[in-house]
Amino acid sequence: MRVLVTGGAGYVGSVTVETLHEAGHDVVVLDDLSTGHRQAVVEGVPLEVGSYGDPATISRVLATHRIEAVLHCAAKSQVAESMADPAKYYRENVAGGVALLEGMRTGGVKRIVFSSTAAVYGMPERTPITEDMPTIPINTYGETKRTFEQGIRWYGHAYGLRSVIFRYFNVAGASERNGEAHDPETHLIPKVLAAAATGTELTIFGDDFATPDGTCIRDYIHVRDLARAHLMALEATDPGDTRTGPRDGRCVPLVCNLGSGAGYSNREVVRAAEQVAGVTIATRIGPRREGDPDILIASAARAAEILGWRPEHDSIAEMIGSAWAWRKTGWGDKA
Ligand code: UDP
Repeated sequence: MRVLVTGGAGYVGSVTVETLHEAGHDVVVLDDLSTGHRQAVVEGVPLEVGSYGDPATISRVLATHRIEAVLHCAAKSQVAESMADPAKYYRENVAGGVALLEGMRTGGVKRIVFSSTAAVYGMPERTPITEDMPTIPINTYGETKRTFEQGIRWYGHAYGLRSVIFRYFNVAGASERNGEAHDPETHLIPKVLAAAATGTELTIFGDDFATPDGTCIRDYIHVRDLARAHLMALEATDPGDTRTGPRDGRCVPLVCNLGSGAGYSNREVVRAAEQVAGVTIATRIGPRREGDPDILIASAARAAEILGWRPEHDSIAEMIGSAWAWRKTGWGDKA
């Protein structure tokens, strides 16, 4: 299959590109390198530097490479920034996304897999979270992802676009080549590992949540498991596949949570990192971060049932171990 991966130079995108490439697919990356890294793109995979939201660029890239399916990983993804600058998030994640859909529609590309987020659920009423629960985001980031999900839905209804929408929980870990290197980094595991490596103090945001040790619980999924799910999802958009295919002439997105179905508290993450790194990590308890739910755990049942996907690397030690090993390869520190 000839697949375009938007954001293929980013964290999730680059590991997924490795997986698709190894599986023998013809992969092309489109990335504007605003947060991605040129060196993350595996050898032999063409990198087009540009924006999926630019109509001329997307039309040219789809046509030149005779693309059959798009994996849309590119987005703005920082919650705090989305609250301070919603215009940027609507422009990139919504308006840019619609430009991508339009390029696909006019170019006759009818298959998409979209990276959405558990942030679409907002403050869920119960856990584990199933896909049919209400989507009431509490930040602009989640709202723009939800809006684009709906765009895909109506393009499927009217134009026969086949789609899989993945709602990611907390992605962690690394491949041998690629890992998480955001700037600024806001995520817990890379920050814990930075604290372990440099001897700086980590602030845990609150210890008065309704959990056994008082710190928030999150569902971590290994980025390599996530990458494998994308491969399975792209296959599920094959013309003729009933999982994404038309019913009564209309295509309906297959929406799946991607998580391990298990949770670890922030303190448990710190302890696991201490074991991996063999050092004591200095921590202090700070105030809660705005909008942090006590517990976020996915029901991963639908992805198992419909796609046949199950996490293979769901121990937190393995996730943190791989992230630590990748950190030691060096270039993640520079980002
Ligand atoms: N967290 C923390 N200190 C940090 C960064 C994160 O205590 O320096 C906590 C955060 O409040 C949440 C958990 O770690 O409870 C996971 O946060 P992250 O930003 O990694 O992912 P999120 O769940 O927000 O998507």
